[in-house]
Amino acid sequence: LTFTSPPIEPHLLTNIKLARYTKPTPVQKYSIPIIASKRDLMACAQTGSGKTGGFLFPILSEMFFQGPVAEQPTETTGRNRFQNHKIHPQALVLAPTRELVNQIYEESQKFTYRSWVRPCVVYGGADVRQQTQQMHTGCDLLMATPGRLVDLIDRGYISLSKIKYLVLDEADRMLDMGFEPQIRRIVEGSDMPGVDHRQTLMFSATFPREIQMLASDFLSDYVFLSV
Ligand code: AMP
Repeated sequence: LTFTSPPIEPHLLTNIKLARYTKPTPVQKYSIPIIASKRDLMACAQTGSGKTGGFLFPILSEMFFQGPVAEQPTETTGRNRFQNHKIHPQALVLAPTRELVNQIYEESQKFTYRSWVRPCVVYGGADVRQQTQQMHTGCDLLMATPGRLVDLIDRGYISLSKIKYLVLDEADRMLDMGFEPQIRRIVEGSDMPGVDHRQTLMFSATFPREIQMLASDFLSDYVFLSV
């Protein structure tokens, strides 16, 4: 097995084997060491290239190595009815569509199998209550479409103050779909740690001027990868 350099956390490696992945795809081969070295990343990669594993593996490996953090004490400030269940994910993956966030969520379920990491998914066009119910027991890794996430932040249900990893997947499609205001609201206008206090990874099929601007605003001293 060649998912070994840099070392992947043993439990994650077991789950990768269970998924019958035997060797990394080219994007995984390059992105895993870059992300493991704690650098920000701008990667140009297509759908089907294995980019999901390319960001999930190094993030989950590091989370597994670090272990769970103590649960937040119950928040008593704020006037929303969710105040006793505020969710503080450590990792956030933004993607443009319900199909894509669900795909990433399904991958993350395989790789978090029998671990402490609780993945969750939220997207627009579905019942808010149903989606918030799945988070009752907590959420460490959140997959979200931008509009629904803004909604849940505004309702006081989710806090981004504990985010260590931020992934923007298919960033060019998110901009094409008009999500830039929501993305900026999430990254720049919420309680998310600033660019020097989180690790940010951007994936995009293309690298036009608008994506370059987003990269210079959201990433710090980033590595550029094109596969
Ligand atoms: P993605 O580009 O991340 O959507 O991945 C495309 C497809 O390739 C998905 O069905 C993955 O489950 C699969 N895949 C990703 N990485 C690997 C790998 N290293 N070995 C085998 N299959 C993989």
